[in-house]
Amino acid sequence: MKVPKRYTRRIFISDVASKIGLGVLFSPAISSCHNKKTADKNDLQIMETKKNKRLGIALVGLGKYSTEQLAPALSQTKYCYLAGVVTGTIEKADRWQKKYDIPTTNIYNYINFDDIKNNPDIDIVYVVLPNALHREYVIRAAEAGKHVICEKPMALTVDECDEMIAACKKADRLLSIGYRLHFEPHNQEMMRLGQQKIFGGISKMVAENGLSEVEGWRLDKQLAGGGPLMDVGIYCVQGARYTTGMEPIAVRAQQEVKKDDRKFREIEESLTWQMEFPDGLIAECKTSYSEEFNLLRAEANKGWFELSPAYEYTGIKGRTSSGKMDFPQVNQQARQMDDFALAILNNRPTPVPGEMGRQDVKILQAIYQAMETGNRIPLTEE
Ligand code: NAD
Repeated sequence: MKVPKRYTRRIFISDVASKIGLGVLFSPAISSCHNKKTADKNDLQIMETKKNKRLGIALVGLGKYSTEQLAPALSQTKYCYLAGVVTGTIEKADRWQKKYDIPTTNIYNYINFDDIKNNPDIDIVYVVLPNALHREYVIRAAEAGKHVICEKPMALTVDECDEMIAACKKADRLLSIGYRLHFEPHNQEMMRLGQQKIFGGISKMVAENGLSEVEGWRLDKQLAGGGPLMDVGIYCVQGARYTTGMEPIAVRAQQEVKKDDRKFREIEESLTWQMEFPDGLIAECKTSYSEEFNLLRAEANKGWFELSPAYEYTGIKGRTSSGKMDFPQVNQQARQMDDFALAILNNRPTPVPGEMGRQDVKILQAIYQAMETGNRIPLTEE
């Protein structure tokens, strides 16, 4: 394989800008019985016979999430490790190479990225770029013969998701979305309590996720695809889906009046929306880029259960009408990546596939349509 040539930020930026094109704007069942599908005894036995084979992951995009969460998590994984990086910034390449002892041959930029196909050290490409770039890099990774993890939201449109899924199918590679909370014990308990109706049928859900300090590409509609709904509201959509184990049949949405018109000129600042599920169940949701909240709550016939905070990397706390939830704090990302490595090694599906990401994008698009039109938008089954 080729050793990376000189890479400069300038080449990278112009390359990226031309690749984005900037003109592309605009079911799967939700993890039911999730625990069954993740690493179980069977997985571990098969692993034994594979003699500690650890799969190599290359992180694409060395921003905050890669730096502060994924790379540290990869020092705790058992079935995969940080084998390479893809970055457009030469200083970052140097820093990461020294810190994580990455061979020069495993460092790529956005131009020579496709050469990764000749690198047997890299089994999995993990796309951790701004949302508008997910489609391109997932497809290029699949075409290079790599399995792919793509960060949320999977893409900006359902059509993009379809192209990404098709590319991975064609290359016979697994595709998963970075839905770390499926591997988090408190959120797994919400799935169990809701889907197994431990407190009876759910009559109402409340899901809220908001941040107050946001900058950079997240405020740029072409790169982010939208505002807080795409970035953190997606966790509410996910939470309602995996707690109920059902798919919404229609949505309504109301954009709140902006407090900062300039900062949020391209995207919504705060949004409330409702998702109608079968049996009259309503999920009341909200998201914001100017106010912090973090809740996932289910009200059922015989009690209630909730997480607050629900979506953080650590410190998730849960309660039910019968008392406290008592589960350990875990490294969610390490579990998520190990589960994907085991899925590949054991030739089984991932519990968080591209189809799940596509369904969320479909719901997000319907919520934006409801916000823009003021109408109730039905979600038709396909
Ligand atoms: P970030 O801004 O910190 O990092 C983005 C990286 O992309 C940077 O290294 C930047 O140099 C690079 N990049 C490449 N092309 C770019 C371009 N044209 N414009 C701007 N940056 C460009 O962002 P982040 O917080 O690391 O988020 C990256 C992705 O990860 C997003 O899709 C985000 O939704 C997702 N994310 C997921 C979680 C999670 O909990 N699963 C948490 C944070 C972020």
